[in-house]
Amino acid sequence: MLTKGIDVRASRTHNVGLFATETIPAGTAIWNPCTKCSRWSKEEVAALPGARFAALDTYGHLLSDGSLLLPCLGAYLMNHSCEANVLDLGLDFGVAVRDIAAGEEVTCDYATFVEDIGWSMECRCRGPRCRGLITTEQGGDPEIRVRWREQVEGALRQLAAVDQPLHDVLTELSEPYRRALGGMTALEQVSTGASVCAPSFVSPGRPAGA
Ligand SMILES: [Zn+2]
Ligand SMILES: [Zn+2]
Repeated sequence: MLTKGIDVRASRTHNVGLFATETIPAGTAIWNPCTKCSRWSKEEVAALPGARFAALDTYGHLLSDGSLLLPCLGAYLMNHSCEANVLDLGLDFGVAVRDIAAGEEVTCDYATFVEDIGWSMECRCRGPRCRGLITTEQGGDPEIRVRWREQVEGALRQLAAVDQPLHDVLTELSEPYRRALGGMTALEQVSTGASVCAPSFVSPGRPAGA
């Protein structure tokens, strides 16, 4: 699912990307894997022709159970930036970590997709903090995680105060969302251990911290 006020346009650094059509305040839940997203089971992934798998893996997320999920409503077109304005550290949804202005590209950090082991890409964001080669192993880097944590916890403190267009779907699917809405803002309290790449609807009953 993808929040409102976001449109697909030509991108400076990629062919296309997602752009805010209105101001989106920090703390807004931007997207989450939902039951309407396309999904291929581990067995279906194994049976995909190589080129088809490569194309899907470019836009989709390989989940911890070996299945592949392609986010719906164009959310799969969200590009990477080393200064991403959307992060998901320890959350099963992406949250705006700063105000996103109308016309600004909406970006996330592909290094947060830690379940997609061994995946990498050359980044062209050209930002001052650009890491060049982006790998999912970077998601475990303590320095990077400290910075992500500060940004995500700041966003969680705003979550209850801003309009949440994805409120209904997140209330149903996301325990971290329910906790944050209830006033928890420390990641240890909010996170169930299910990352955006391991959403609970895929493996209901996945124990906390697993
Ligand atoms: Zn979806
Ligand atoms: Zn970069």
